Amino acid sequence: MNNAQPALLEVKDLVKHYPVRSGVLRRRVGTVHAVDGVSFSLGAGETLGLVGESGCGKSTVARSVLRLVEPTSGQIAVDGADITHLGKAALRPVRRSMQIVFQDPFASLNPRMRAGDIVGEPLAVHGLASGEQRQARVAELFQQVGLRPDQMRNFPHQFSGGQRQRICIARALALSPRLIVCDEPVSALDVSIQAQVINLLIDLQRRHGLSYLFIAHDLAVVAHISHRVAVMYLGRMVEIAGKDELFRNPRHPYTRALLASVPLPDPRQKQPPPLVDGDVPSPVNPPTGCAFHTRCRFAMAQCKTERPVLRDVGARHQVACLLNGGAGL
Ligand code: SF4
Repeated sequence: MNNAQPALLEVKDLVKHYPVRSGVLRRRVGTVHAVDGVSFSLGAGETLGLVGESGCGKSTVARSVLRLVEPTSGQIAVDGADITHLGKAALRPVRRSMQIVFQDPFASLNPRMRAGDIVGEPLAVHGLASGEQRQARVAELFQQVGLRPDQMRNFPHQFSGGQRQRICIARALALSPRLIVCDEPVSALDVSIQAQVINLLIDLQRRHGLSYLFIAHDLAVVAHISHRVAVMYLGRMVEIAGKDELFRNPRHPYTRALLASVPLPDPRQKQPPPLVDGDVPSPVNPPTGCAFHTRCRFAMAQCKTERPVLRDVGARHQVACLLNGGAGL
């Protein structure tokens, strides 16, 4: 992000906890720490990639930013205005400027609606266009995402997986948003189709100055589209830096482990052994101190009690590790 650009989105100390209930009386017996104090900003025309293993809280961050789930605490600001506690009516115009594309295009499209009606629905709901005007706008959106206007009459099952995700992108574009949250938008697609959809998103960003919060577990995908990358582990952000800086100089042991686990393209090359052991602990009562200490080969005694915070290590690079910001590895 250019320093002169105002932050389109500013998230501070975002927390989302869910109660765990049990028994006939549904008593609270624990807490899922889905997101536990996440802060970041996103500039106009910028893409921030959010990566981490499944269950690390990245999708909860996405939904909290859009207020699809209510944060437990923290602050979300759009263009400097706090939207964290806005009521339904006040939130409506903000929602127009922030849209989401989900992972599974088939599940997020109504199978009984024609593709053109699906894409035109946001325009109808917000009362922005009707009749021929809406049809013309939908045809334009179809063209923008690489579909033919005559396909507006087809139903979702008549499209391929990649085409269905193009319909979802067209629907997200309908209200001319400034921010699109992309929640694993290519994970369900074949690899060859993934590249086409990513390139479409990059092209649309250039044309419309869109900002993306791009959520993925695949580092190769994130590397391709992101300007900056943030790494999450068990509801916390452990590292954030410019894409090139992060891939060239990963500092957090978890980021290093993620990068080392990327499959080698040549099957004759021997895959190095994994840098972490075991599975991600449960987000119900997560480990004390550094949440990664149960899997970190560099863990020290203080890692069990002291929670590391994100610290600046230069080059607009922040790391949450007690071992000298990861520099001592
Ligand atoms: Fe490992 Fe300790 Fe750094 Fe956590 S704080 S990543 S346990 S060295």
